[in-house]
Amino acid sequence: MSEAEIIDGKAFAQRVRERVTAAVATLKADHNIVPGLTVVLVGEDPASQVYVRNKGKQTAAAGMESNTIRLDAATPEQDLLDLIKTLNGDDAVHGILVQLPLPDQIDEAKVIAAIDPDKDVDGFHVVNVGRLWTGAEAPVPCTPYGCLQMLKETLGELKGKRALVLGRSNIVGKPMSALLLAEHCTVTIAHSRTVDLGERCREADILIAAVGQPQMVPGSWIKPGATVIDVGINRIDAPEKGEGKTRLVGDVNFEEAQQVAAHITPVPGGVGPVTIANLLRNTVIAACRQKGLDVPEI
Ligand code: NDP
Repeated sequence: MSEAEIIDGKAFAQRVRERVTAAVATLKADHNIVPGLTVVLVGEDPASQVYVRNKGKQTAAAGMESNTIRLDAATPEQDLLDLIKTLNGDDAVHGILVQLPLPDQIDEAKVIAAIDPDKDVDGFHVVNVGRLWTGAEAPVPCTPYGCLQMLKETLGELKGKRALVLGRSNIVGKPMSALLLAEHCTVTIAHSRTVDLGERCREADILIAAVGQPQMVPGSWIKPGATVIDVGINRIDAPEKGEGKTRLVGDVNFEEAQQVAAHITPVPGGVGPVTIANLLRNTVIAACRQKGLDVPEI
């Protein structure tokens, strides 16, 4: 069998950003509306700082209003809740994102619940979770939506396919399962207590790995000809690059999987870049809905 075709997430994200930029230009020209995203970062987690910087850059590059509010790591929970209340009431803010994880003194669930569901561009609010599972219009979590877009672009119709989602987090696994179900896939959700995990994986036409365990899925778990979407981002030691060096790998053993699958996303350069592009998309859609305008195809 020939090697799997690599799904190019960077190129995919670029196409999403181009559609976002065009939609923003139209909103400005026709309605004098500039979609605005406010990102709140509490503390100095290095990975979060990088994400937030990238989010800010890409939002501005798409012609949107980008605002980052940085708060001290010791910020009391009530101060953050008060800030969210102010942002909820600000007409120029169409999307609010509080970067996770938050420091220990702040209850994440309480913070997410405080965000106006219509401005919740992460799609994490329980109202939006309910909307997603019941098929109502909702901001869809950016990472799983990106996986779905790439699957549809690669495979076309997903109806009837057997999908296995490895991982059941609120951020990736569960919303991913809802999206695949809505596309009429037969969905299995696997997790750390799943028995015969390899066998379950081998039944899947579509395998989504979102576990956060470096290279956990071997080639032998993949059905020949399957499509593999690797959400995992794990940093491992890379002595071959020099002492103390590291590299990023996914949850799938890429080299092995490439020999068995028909299509696969690499890490880095697969799912990762698409997440921020979808955050911009969600913000434009949120702005349209808040202003009572038709939502453009993005
Ligand atoms: P969580 O840690 O919240 O969830 C991990 C899930 O994997 C849990 O459901 C857990 O099961 C399951 N799991 C863990 N170990 C095993 C195992 N040995 N066998 C079977 N199942 C297992 O992670 P997230 O969903 O937030 O993230 C998953 C990965 O995706 C991470 O690497 C993260 O960095 C990456 N990620 C990438 C994004 C992007 O590309 N932009 C965005 C978000 C995440 P159980 O529930 O039983 O504990």
